[in-house]
Amino acid sequence: MIKFNVPPHLEDSDKYVLDSMASGDIAGDNKYTKLCEEILAKKFGSPKVHLTTSGTTALEMACMLADIGPGDEVILPSYTFSSTANAIVIFGGTPVFVDIRPDTMNIDETKIEAAITPKTKAIMVVHYAGVGCNMEVICDIAKRHNLILLEDAAQVVNATYKGKYLGTFGDVGCYSFHETKNYSMGEGGAVSINNPALIDRTDIIREKGTNRTQFFNGQVDKYTWVDKGSSYLPSDILAAYLYPQLLIMDEMRQDRIDTFNLYYELLKPLKDAGKIDLPVIPEGCVHNGHMFYVKTKNLEERCALQTFLREKGVGTAFHYVPLHSAPEGLKVGRMSGEDVYTTKEFERLLRMPMYYKLGKENTEYICDMIKEFYK
Ligand SMILES: *Cc1c(COP(=O)(O)O)cnc(C)c1O
Repeated sequence: MIKFNVPPHLEDSDKYVLDSMASGDIAGDNKYTKLCEEILAKKFGSPKVHLTTSGTTALEMACMLADIGPGDEVILPSYTFSSTANAIVIFGGTPVFVDIRPDTMNIDETKIEAAITPKTKAIMVVHYAGVGCNMEVICDIAKRHNLILLEDAAQVVNATYKGKYLGTFGDVGCYSFHETKNYSMGEGGAVSINNPALIDRTDIIREKGTNRTQFFNGQVDKYTWVDKGSSYLPSDILAAYLYPQLLIMDEMRQDRIDTFNLYYELLKPLKDAGKIDLPVIPEGCVHNGHMFYVKTKNLEERCALQTFLREKGVGTAFHYVPLHSAPEGLKVGRMSGEDVYTTKEFERLLRMPMYYKLGKENTEYICDMIKEFYK
C-alpha cells in the first residue's frame, strides 16, 4: 500500500526531542522554538516569526491582529480549508468568497476588485498546492484600496513568487507544520509578522493578552492583562521535532520537487492526449512540491479513478468542498460574482501520494496504474 501521506521523521529529531525533554524547559519560547524561529525569519527575510500551535491558530492570530470584527468583510477564495474562513467568522467578520483560477486553483485576482465594498477590511489569499497567487496584482489592489493583506501560506513554506518568499507579502503570513505539510511537528504552525507596526501587539496577543514580554524585557515593572489574546505557543518538545527539518529545508524541498517532476514527465502523454489535466506553475513561481494532482474529466471519472487506485494499493484524496455552498458558508458568508470554476475544478481534482522520500519506484508504479486506468 502506498499511503497518501507519510509525515517526515528525521533521525535527528529523536536526539533533539530527548534533549528538550531532559532540559526541564518544555513550555513555549525555549531553545528549539527560538532556533526554529531564527532559521525561518533569516531564510524568508521576515522581520519576525513566531511558532504557533497550528496553522489554524496562526490564521486566528492574523485576524486578531487585523482587528476583524462584526460588520467587517474579508475577501478570500471559496476553494480553501474551513480554517481560513473560521478565523474570520469567530471574530464576527463576514467571509466574502471569490472564484478561483482553473490553472492554479488560487483566487482569481481579476475578480477581487468587484468584491470590494465599503465594509471590506482585508483580503486573505490562500496559496494552493505550494504555488503562489499573483501577488503583484493582489498587493497592488490591497494598497490602492487601503486593505489589510493576510496570507494563508500553510502550503507554501519555502516557496517563492518573483524571488520573494510567500508568507512575507502580506501584513501577516500564516504557515502550517501539520503532519500533512512539507515540514512537520505533528500539530504546529507559524506567523510571519511582515508589518513592523504589528510586532508589539503580537507579543501581547500571543501571551494571553498580557504585556509579559515587555515585563521580561524590562520595559514595564509588572505585567497585566492589556488586550485580547490567547495561548498560541507550542511546547518546545514539538519545536525540537521540527528543528532538524528546517536545517535541511532545501534538500527536503528538492526531494518533493523531483517527485513532482517525475509525476509530470510520466503523465504528460496522458495530458497531451487530452485525457487529464496537470498542475500549472505560472512564470515567476518557484513551488515547493507540496502537492501533485491530476484533473479528470468530471466528478464521476474522479471517483472511478480513486476507487481503481485504491484497489491497486494507492491512497489518494480529493480536496476542499467549496465553502460558499457548504452549510456554514451559506449561513455566515456570501459569494461575490459567479462560481465559474470553483465547483467544477474541485470536482475534477484528485491528489496523488506526495511526501518526503516517496521515491522514484513508488511514483513510477502510481503513474503506471493511472495509465492503466485510462487504457
Ligand atoms: C493545513 C491548512 C490549514 C490549517 O493548518 P493546521 O496546521 O492543520 O491548523 C489552513 N489553511 C490551509 C490552506 C491549509 O492547507
